[in-house]
Amino acid sequence: MKNIIIFYIFFSSLTWSQDMNFANLLYENYSKYLESNIQQKRFKYDEFIKLIEKHKKNSIFTIVTQGKSVEGREIFLIKYGSGKRKVFLWSQMHGDEPTATMALFDIFNFLASQDFCDVKKNIAEQLTIYFMPNVNPDGAELFQRRNKLEIDLNRDAARLETPEAKILMSTYKSINADFGFNLHDQSSRYSVGSSFKQATISFLAPPYNYEKEYNHVRDNSVKVIVEMINTLNNFIPGHLAKYLDDFEPRAFGDNFQKLGMSTVLVESGGWKDDVEKQFVRKLNFVALLSALKSIAEKRFITNQILVYENLPFNEKYIYDLVLRNLTIKQGDKSFKADIAINLNEVNIEETDGSYFQSTIEDVGDLSIFFGLKDLDLEGYTVDYGKLFPKIFKSQKEINKIELENLYRAGYTTLKFKNNLIRDRYTRLGINLKTNNQKVIDEIKIGNRADLVIKKNDKTKFVIVNGFIYDVATRTGFILNGIIE
Ligand SMILES: [Zn+2]
Repeated sequence: MKNIIIFYIFFSSLTWSQDMNFANLLYENYSKYLESNIQQKRFKYDEFIKLIEKHKKNSIFTIVTQGKSVEGREIFLIKYGSGKRKVFLWSQMHGDEPTATMALFDIFNFLASQDFCDVKKNIAEQLTIYFMPNVNPDGAELFQRRNKLEIDLNRDAARLETPEAKILMSTYKSINADFGFNLHDQSSRYSVGSSFKQATISFLAPPYNYEKEYNHVRDNSVKVIVEMINTLNNFIPGHLAKYLDDFEPRAFGDNFQKLGMSTVLVESGGWKDDVEKQFVRKLNFVALLSALKSIAEKRFITNQILVYENLPFNEKYIYDLVLRNLTIKQGDKSFKADIAINLNEVNIEETDGSYFQSTIEDVGDLSIFFGLKDLDLEGYTVDYGKLFPKIFKSQKEINKIELENLYRAGYTTLKFKNNLIRDRYTRLGINLKTNNQKVIDEIKIGNRADLVIKKNDKTKFVIVNGFIYDVATRTGFILNGIIE
């Protein structure tokens, strides 16, 4: 008996280390599989189509059009393998949640590569995998959550009014998959419980009833999640959480679980300074392939449900920037406070990356919250940024000036008179004021975060539209200013 136990421990630790080795190799060699034609999250449908066409030429994939979106964009189903167990992965049913779609293209490159032939041979023999990247191509084109009819596809699983939801449901029914992966993005401001850590990936084994009961189907989704937790804990320990687990009768995950497909919800959250979510994409790549390997090898069966249950839920304790213990002067009085600032991503047509609009979210004792950037500024005073009096007429003229000098003098906005300007955001590193409306100059909740932080009358930091720049050490980056 003892020998059997020792053998079992030896054998299970051996297989575990093999799995970790696979994940580590994927992580280390990721750049070999990275689909380099997509490098930022606002990729367009024509780029998506080009990649689909590329993989159509590869006989390991069978690619068919399953239907069309409201605006007539094709929704594809990509089949790999010929095994008995069926796995269905779909991404981006919310158009502004593209992280997993990017990762799926990396996975296609991995499957098409000449590496890990034994692992892939086994996956292809045991599983038939169906991928549906970008379920909501109209929403994706506009980088908006909902489809063209303003309907949230993930609240249309019961009524099936939208063509996209119909396609997703009928595809599931025709495949009758055993396992499903429902791939989304979540707010980057979720924390892992009340810890001061960002929830970079959150999971849910969706409930199939209001009582949140467990059955064999849901148990299996939990066990697959545990596989992904064990894998990712190696790379981002403490950054994994559980998504809100209330039953939602209109959502796909809950309905699929009810219909008998063990469904895993993967929510890609934020990672420090990863605005384009390229690191989180890599984590998706590693975790999803590890899960597929585990399903093919039936290893997930021995995973402990408790690992999932012990995962803290997503909570909201995060701001993008928290400035602590600042002295704020108001008239002849002064008081001490923390200031919380958020950078909200704006949805615009530009394709040169992301743009943000900042707001002051809170002022006061913020000791129970934390900032993705969090600074103790004891001994510093703060003022609202000023408007520079000179009028500039062109960007060229602005390029000639040394912004550092303006920052140092407390200016965060320039006057700009140019009839051609239609944009609302600028990469110039400062805000532009083109109208004659009253200047905002107060540290007040809801106002834009333009601040100047000083000690002994010397500027240390300037904050332009929520982006902090250290004037003393010349570090930091103002991604975009606001034009108003
Ligand atoms: Zn979503």
